[in-house]
Amino acid sequence: MQKTVATTPEALVSEGLISPADAGALKHVAERYAIAAPRHMVSLIDRDAVNDPIALQIVPSTAELVTTPDERPDPIGDDTYSPVKGLVHRYPDRVLLKVHSACAVYCRFCFRREMVGPGGDTMDESDITTALNYIREHPDIWEVILTGGDPLVLSPKRIANLLDELDSIEHVQVVRFHTRVPVAVPDRISEELVQVLSGRRTTVYVAVHSNHARELSPDAIEACGRLTSAGIPLVGQTVLLKGINDNAETLETLFRAMVRIRITPYYLHHPDLAPGTGHFRVPIETGQALMKQLRGRVSGLALPTYMLDIPGGYGKVPVGPSYVTESADGLALVEDVNGRTHTYPPQDTDPS
Ligand SMILES: *Cc1c(COP(=O)(O)O)cnc(C)c1O
Ligand code: SF4
Repeated sequence: MQKTVATTPEALVSEGLISPADAGALKHVAERYAIAAPRHMVSLIDRDAVNDPIALQIVPSTAELVTTPDERPDPIGDDTYSPVKGLVHRYPDRVLLKVHSACAVYCRFCFRREMVGPGGDTMDESDITTALNYIREHPDIWEVILTGGDPLVLSPKRIANLLDELDSIEHVQVVRFHTRVPVAVPDRISEELVQVLSGRRTTVYVAVHSNHARELSPDAIEACGRLTSAGIPLVGQTVLLKGINDNAETLETLFRAMVRIRITPYYLHHPDLAPGTGHFRVPIETGQALMKQLRGRVSGLALPTYMLDIPGGYGKVPVGPSYVTESADGLALVEDVNGRTHTYPPQDTDPS
């Protein structure tokens, strides 16, 4: 019988995702980075396509063995701002909590690929108590972001315990889950889990990571529907990826599909400088040009903010196209969606 998740090159061979000849070379990738290709995502792969956008995200490649001088194990500098194990406090009002390191799927471009995996660092009960105490002692913390690893891989019971604790900390108003589970293993969004997430004192948000409209399968749509029907707001997170979604039409289709199932696209992430991910990266100018193509053509509801996490722990900033420049005489020049510029405030002469 086939397992529900392929985690080794051999398993990928028996799934028909790689050839036996490739399995040897991919052993070296498997030694370094975790692999998990869950059955549901595998079922979405178009076997006839040469560069299937789902396969490219979950099937390892020998390109991952190539690291460039720019790349670093901790590309966004999580460690710089970690006062206690598993907790990152970079912005005054919110913290990340990395409860455990396992994910339902190991994305080949993952920005935390040196940290995530079945053998990775997991917070034990005493680490969690220490982190909760830190949150309790810092009244500025308004939001707790559970990330990972993937927090929705935890059992509903463990999630319930964690949410009970966070509910008891008065200054915590919002708890956000960053997850790929609704698209990777939609069945895990069970009625039991939905119950655990809903009806809390804190407001629970779920940020769904999805990079291609084909991931939003009927099962994934139903999983998201179970969450939204319970009153849980969903936002979308997408990573801009070369050969997967780096064209305006693919992004437009994805963002429209998200809005239709009540996921508001939140961030389009510029890919981080994680080791062995150079084959997925595009220049920032490419992302800016794509955002420019979408602006005006696509509903504002379907347009996320294009973000860069500045390497070294300096945080995220929007890096989308700018529409405002300054004229030689110090006036603001604003570009419209058709590429014409206008002075602001308007001058007497007709700028058209
Ligand atoms: C990304 C990130 C957040 C969340 O940032 P938002 O802009 O609120 O989505 C919080 N803390 C850290 C350390 C982060 O890297
Ligand atoms: S789900 Fe997120 S943390 Fe896990 S491998 Fe994918 S990108 Fe990395």
